[in-house]
Amino acid sequence: MRVPMIAGNWKMNTTVSEATELVKAMRAELDKIGNIDKVICPPFISLAVVRELIKGSSIKLGAQNIYFKEKGAYTGEISPLMLADLCKFVIIGHSERRQYFNETGEIVNKKIVSALRVGLKPILCIGERLEENEAGRTEEVVTEQLRSSLTEIDYLNGLMIAYEPVWAIGTGKAATSKQANETIGLIRRNIAKLYDKEIARDMRILYGGSVTAANATEFMNQPEIDGALVGGASLKADQFLSIVKQTSEIKQ
Ligand code: PEP
Repeated sequence: MRVPMIAGNWKMNTTVSEATELVKAMRAELDKIGNIDKVICPPFISLAVVRELIKGSSIKLGAQNIYFKEKGAYTGEISPLMLADLCKFVIIGHSERRQYFNETGEIVNKKIVSALRVGLKPILCIGERLEENEAGRTEEVVTEQLRSSLTEIDYLNGLMIAYEPVWAIGTGKAATSKQANETIGLIRRNIAKLYDKEIARDMRILYGGSVTAANATEFMNQPEIDGALVGGASLKADQFLSIVKQTSEIKQ
């Protein structure tokens, strides 16, 4: 059985005091919801503060990015060792990083290797752009993203995948649950080819792209979808709580 998971990607939002308020607004209710992994991914500067605020609760912490070098003269970067000291999860290869910071498959691969080396659990984001979707290239694109991201990686340490069609991120235009389920099924079959059937069966694959409290049930009713990576709606305590609650109830 795959434990469902909802991860909140706060992106470049919240000051330290806003992050504190947001955690305080959700902590007690979120803590009570069982049978599900609840992960929040605030900006780097709030990780230490949020870690203290969720101590003793069932809420888990993740980062939004990582650099692949262990330490040294890389001004402004955050290393795997620094993160491993603070959190368990790290989002890698988000489409915003691929788009605005030129992250290639090769860089994503290095980041995954470096995260796994220190015991972090990567949430690997893949997904096609609008023009690729319209040209019927979704399968080709996600297959290639998987191949390049996972090159020469044998041990996955519970790595998760978030299928996030780029055209659905932050646009309010989610994929249909049927489309998302089909592509996630395809991703799972690819994982079986790259690794084996058991690894594919046990891997958690999330959907991401304009998930809200209003459409969460639809996505979570799909058998291949194990949870969601939530951007905008994770910044609103009531929305995030509702998405987590719905998922926990459906995936009992
Ligand atoms: C995301 O940031 O990964 C995301 C899916 O954003 P949103 O939910 O806002 O579309």
